[in-house]
Amino acid sequence: MKTGIISIIGPPNVGKSTLLNQLLGQKISIVSPKPQTTRNRITGVVNDGDSQMVFLDTPGIHKANNPLNREMVKNALRSLTGVDLIILMIDINFPYPEKLHNALHELKKSSKPVLLLINKIDLIDKNRLLPIIKIYADFFPFQTLLPISAKTSEGIGKIKNEIIPFLPEAPPLFPENIPTDLNERFIASEIIREKIFLLTHQEVPYSTAVIIESFQEEKGNPVNIHATIYLEKKSQKGIIIGKNGRMLKKIGISAREDMEKMLGTRVVLDLRVKLKKEWRRNQGFLRELQITD
Ligand code: GDP
Ligand code: MG
Repeated sequence: MKTGIISIIGPPNVGKSTLLNQLLGQKISIVSPKPQTTRNRITGVVNDGDSQMVFLDTPGIHKANNPLNREMVKNALRSLTGVDLIILMIDINFPYPEKLHNALHELKKSSKPVLLLINKIDLIDKNRLLPIIKIYADFFPFQTLLPISAKTSEGIGKIKNEIIPFLPEAPPLFPENIPTDLNERFIASEIIREKIFLLTHQEVPYSTAVIIESFQEEKGNPVNIHATIYLEKKSQKGIIIGKNGRMLKKIGISAREDMEKMLGTRVVLDLRVKLKKEWRRNQGFLRELQITD
């Protein structure tokens, strides 16, 4: 049996969470067109014959300008210790390896095998591929460079074959039928956050945090979920609630549908909106959100 941990790192918005969901064949990590959607480290387990691959999806590596973002970048870099292989992902539309200078320096220090995934090839002319692959191959001794599309799943099948040779002989870390170590409460809070990232703009999604206050399962009844959405400013609270509560209703309906899919049962979702000034600077609250330990 071969078992190993693989960290997926890269700039924000390149498609790391989309890839994790594709590898798992189910959605556990939230995705949006906005950068910095993922804040915590998300674990996804893929079993393939005699091997178990434990993938870590991470927040994007970027220049952090506040305590929340600094913790997010730390989460990504922390995921480099104790792993067997690193997947570095980039977006083919932004082929600037020099921007990754610092990250590549960290990777060199770790002396772990690094696989480069060049994502979003569905968006470009295939003639542009080879020159870009060459730029990166000259820049860093990657184990392999693979062009893929996490969205259409083109090239995804090859990833496992590149990883398996680097996994150590070891017993599995997770039982075969468990795709993640995340609990349903956490995923429920992430689903709400994803809807806010998809439905609101500018500072609002970045100023949003979600806490699940209660999660009650009772056989034969719908699951009852109470959640509080925290915003930093009164005006943001107004945007989340919307005219006559319309926005909050939209968020609630869309989140409930995803929760019902995840849990395979009906859900009654109760959302409240509260003000928590400057929560992004509040270490205690970041700990409560499991962003810091
Ligand atoms: P992350 O921040 O690196 O985790 O990126 P996400 O997985 O959240 O994806 C960011 C955006 O890129 C989302 O709108 C995705 O739908 C989109 N995306 C991800 N992979 C692909 C891809 O292969 N092709 C295209 N066209 N879009 C993609
Ligand atoms: Mg992500």
